[in-house]
Amino acid sequence: MESRTLIQPDVKFISYLKNNGGDTLKKCYQCASCSVVCSLSPQHEAFPRKEMISASWGQKDNLLSDPDVWLCHGCSDCSTHCPRGAKPSNVLAAIRAYIIESCAFPSFMGKALKNSKYLFPLLLVPIIVLFALLYDNLNGNFAQLGEGTVKFANFLPHGTLEMFWIGGNVLIFAFAAIGLLRFWKNLTLLSPPKEKKSFVNAVIGMVTEFISHKHFKACKQDSSRFWGHLLIFYGFIGAMITAGLAVMALVVFELSPIPLFHPIKILGNLSGIAMVIGCIIFAVHRLKTNTNKIVNTYSDWLLITFVFLVSFTGLLTQTFRIVDVPVLAYSTYFIHMVLIFFLLWYAPYSKLAHMFYRTLALVYLRQNGREKKMTMFKSFAFFFFKL
Ligand code: SF4
Ligand code: SF4
Repeated sequence: MESRTLIQPDVKFISYLKNNGGDTLKKCYQCASCSVVCSLSPQHEAFPRKEMISASWGQKDNLLSDPDVWLCHGCSDCSTHCPRGAKPSNVLAAIRAYIIESCAFPSFMGKALKNSKYLFPLLLVPIIVLFALLYDNLNGNFAQLGEGTVKFANFLPHGTLEMFWIGGNVLIFAFAAIGLLRFWKNLTLLSPPKEKKSFVNAVIGMVTEFISHKHFKACKQDSSRFWGHLLIFYGFIGAMITAGLAVMALVVFELSPIPLFHPIKILGNLSGIAMVIGCIIFAVHRLKTNTNKIVNTYSDWLLITFVFLVSFTGLLTQTFRIVDVPVLAYSTYFIHMVLIFFLLWYAPYSKLAHMFYRTLALVYLRQNGREKKMTMFKSFAFFFFKL
């Protein structure tokens, strides 16, 4: 007698996907056009059709352990060609959001970053921390800020600020590591590797891919996403390097403020400008794209808005310092710091967490021979000439 498998759909999981951009998932009639059109899908066990089937049947465990959902870069080529308007691109985005939320530690933070009603309380945390530091530094005498030239070290003491910054980051990275370990456990337990390749080679391959952004370029519908992401990616890395070098310049060489044409400052400004332009490109792309193709979720806008505001207030702060307008310089600097703390302290739970989860999934996939191989030379050839 033929054996049968009883499938128990996870109804809550289906509801989650529907409420987070995947409301069209039940329209799928499994024709596989999406898998054919996706330029990133491997030939063997192609996606996203199989993910659409698992999602509409509520097979949560299959999807939690499916590294392929992280191969998708959300270009929406598949949604454009889906004859049923099932928007597989949005369903995959909802699955990724669920994975981040379910792995989050502490778990309530995963939910808080998804819901606009928690935005104000979340913002209040860095505001209170920074205001307390400021109050303590000035002994409550805010009037003194209007006197003399603008000097940020007089506003928020660098030593204490860095202590909070480093302490907060250590805690956040520890929490992020717990989430990532849960994710890795899901991948390896529920989707055990078929063949094991060198971990180091997998990491090198993944880094090469990130540098070249070849997967973003492979999507055919709209090249603006490629440029938007590229600018934000390199802008973010540049900003991180600038922050590290600025601390070194202060501690080792007591250089503060850094002159406008110093290499560190130039790198910081170029990074800020790159992120501002990248965010504008992304925002225009999202606003322009037909809502039949993509769904703009709260998490998408939260990340774009905060990355834009961090970069923009950084550039504004510098401008107000140079023209020496204390009230504007100090207030913009305060807002800038609040936004930075918000962005980085909540990174393991916001859409920024994709950076960590995707990295891990791509390493896992490469280690297991799932990715098509591309040498460093080929990656750059692809990047520049689309060969
Ligand atoms: S999502 Fe659309 S294109 Fe993909 S299998 Fe379903 S109906 Fe076909
Ligand atoms: S959104 Fe783009 S990368 Fe993702 S499955 Fe669809 S076609 Fe492939």
